[in-house]
Amino acid sequence: MTHKKSFNLLTQSIANPVGYAGFLRPAIVEAAQADPFTGRLLKIADDVFQERYSSPPHPPLHSYTPSIPPPPVLGILRHDYMLHTDKTCKQVEVNTIASSFGCLSTSVTSVHHAAYLSDPGCSVAPNKALHQVSSGVCEAVRSSGGGVCVMVVQEGEKNSIDQNMIIVECAKRGVKVVRMSMDVIGEQIGEVKMGEDAKVEVEGKMERVGLFYFRAGYQPQDYKTENDWNTRLLMERSSASKCPDVFYHLAGAKKVQQMLAPPGVVEGLCGLKGVDELFAGLYGLGHEGDEDVIQMALDNPMDYVLKPQREGGGNNLYKDRMVAKLKEMTREERKGYILMELIKPPKFQNQLIRNGEVVHDGTCTLEVGVFGVSLYTADGVDEMEGVEGMGEDAYICRAKAEGVEEGGVAAGFAFLSSVQLV
Ligand code: ADP
Ligand code: MG
Repeated sequence: MTHKKSFNLLTQSIANPVGYAGFLRPAIVEAAQADPFTGRLLKIADDVFQERYSSPPHPPLHSYTPSIPPPPVLGILRHDYMLHTDKTCKQVEVNTIASSFGCLSTSVTSVHHAAYLSDPGCSVAPNKALHQVSSGVCEAVRSSGGGVCVMVVQEGEKNSIDQNMIIVECAKRGVKVVRMSMDVIGEQIGEVKMGEDAKVEVEGKMERVGLFYFRAGYQPQDYKTENDWNTRLLMERSSASKCPDVFYHLAGAKKVQQMLAPPGVVEGLCGLKGVDELFAGLYGLGHEGDEDVIQMALDNPMDYVLKPQREGGGNNLYKDRMVAKLKEMTREERKGYILMELIKPPKFQNQLIRNGEVVHDGTCTLEVGVFGVSLYTADGVDEMEGVEGMGEDAYICRAKAEGVEEGGVAAGFAFLSSVQLV
């Protein structure tokens, strides 16, 4: 949990204009050529950059002067960790878009807290995720000039309870949050030029959007038509705060995490020491001489996982599927993937419960995601600093049966749990 501020700062330092031009864009440009979805996001980022700074994202890298100050960016990051066999804590990934389950996790922790109240030997770590996420949403609306928060959601979203908890919490604080799908926003938003207000209809009235909060938009299926892509561009241009904006979104790409991993890179970017110790082995593909990396994975297929530039679970390749994919891809295609050392978490005995029934009674592993919420303004100030409760722990703890390779809760792979302080 001590690293939450570090990742807020690191993400800001590569997603701001100088960081984008100097590190983030060069880090991801080849993966974006190999992966059309990442390519579309990069194109939006470049277009927004050009319109906002009247300059392409090229040197000089010292400063860029915006025509209109960019709106604040709300970072609701969730960095996921597992313990490794050598008892070090290793990072699985950083999510910069649609980091979910904070609110339901807060409720699960309350249940565990109540259940163990009479057990002096068990101290459940408090979980402030709902408070922190909701505080971020309210501050982001206020900071951009007020209005409503539009939560961008998928049609038929399964995880709406987690989203509705934020809506209820923000309503208590006087901020209206409405859930809308990309196509409905597209019908209402009209033509938005750089820095103009976006408006949507809420209860019969056109309201200014103070924040676009993306709980969708992270996978190709979320953009069903060209119109949806255009809607994303219009949202990026608008005066509303974004969670995340397209630069933060790109900063969470698997390729970027691999490019941040070599010792000293993070320190060089934002002065933070010790962060790179959290990274497991991460390897790029598609460059001259990547045959050595491929051979390493082919020789030890149980020790690596192959990851494309995707979020939302179900996309990583393990074992035989990894081997087959590594053998069949061209060098150009490999640029869209990274190879990661497999983290091997310790095992323990537990019961996993779904709908009140024990569905697994046996060996399990754990993964903990740490939430870090920031609200950076154009001048690089984090407006969440000093907001009550932001320094406290906010997390999702997931348990799953041994050998389950995915981590999704809504997808039925993992089960919400809590952290016990020892
Ligand atoms: P996504 O962005 O699609 O959620 P992740 O990289 O987080 O993709 O991987 C999904 C799940 O796969 C994780 O929650 C974790 O359970 C498992 N996983 C991913 N990378 C590793 C790894 N290096 N070692 C062990 N398990 C991993
Ligand atoms: Mg992810």
